Amino acid sequence: MSVLSRFSLKDQHAVITGGYRGIGLAIARAFAEAGASLTLTARNTEGLDAAVATLRDQGHDVDAALMDMRDPSSIEAAADGIIGRRRQVHVLVNNAGIVRRAGILDVSLKDWQEVMDTNLTGLFLASQAFGRHMVAMGGGSIVNIGSNSAIIVDRPQTHGSYNVSKAAMHMLSKIMAAELAPHGVRVNVVAPGYTVTEMTRPAIEAAADAKEWQRQTPLARFADADEIAPAALYLASAASSFVTGEVVVVDGGYTLW
Ligand code: NDP
Repeated sequence: MSVLSRFSLKDQHAVITGGYRGIGLAIARAFAEAGASLTLTARNTEGLDAAVATLRDQGHDVDAALMDMRDPSSIEAAADGIIGRRRQVHVLVNNAGIVRRAGILDVSLKDWQEVMDTNLTGLFLASQAFGRHMVAMGGGSIVNIGSNSAIIVDRPQTHGSYNVSKAAMHMLSKIMAAELAPHGVRVNVVAPGYTVTEMTRPAIEAAADAKEWQRQTPLARFADADEIAPAALYLASAASSFVTGEVVVVDGGYTLW
């Protein structure tokens, strides 16, 4: 197998949650280029249908599915539908996530629970549903989009509910990696740093000094979503066939300091 062919996802089906914009869409484009067929999921059709149509226009085999990460019955129904339709799902990318920017003394219980439900419990339930399918298939790869916020306390602004949800899902990924390895299923994490998307744009625009903020990263800038996607491709594909339970940090060196 040549080294570049190890990155191929030909004849593989990948499900990407929250895959219609930001980092999820960048991953979808990269996986489609690598030959995968895709199901992109979202909690409503707004934005989803347009992203799917664009990828189809480019000749890619892409489905859309509704799946609300806060709703266990929605996750179960979506997983059943996708597996029923495609028969084999080789890759799951748990990308959907939210942030609520409030300090620990100020964050409301409602916001805390919404972050945990989306970033942790929803990811757990989707991993269970597709993990069981992959175990039955005898192989697969789960790539969870974590964060360098699982490793360090963010600056200049903290948002602790987000950090806690991401730290917990990093550990969940390691536990699943250990349990599923005997079944040929790998579980890994991509941990991005600040990436310019809908999630971060409001905070970046509101920052008193965005340049100073960027200088806190050794590479002195924020990431583009297309710089995160190759790490997800590496972990999804045979390029990482002997890697499981790992966290690939893509943050321009932010966690060095
Ligand atoms: P975006 O806000 O652009 O995208 C998040 C995606 O998640 C959207 O498609 C959103 O859809 C979806 N989503 C949110 N809640 C739900 C839900 N309940 N059910 C289904 N889908 C949902 O953010 P990013 O692209 O930046 O983030 C992608 C991932 O990367 C997240 O997990 C985030 O935590 C992580 N990350 C991002 C970083 C960054 O700096 N941008 C840094 C580190 C990690 P909807 O329109 O319905 O809300």
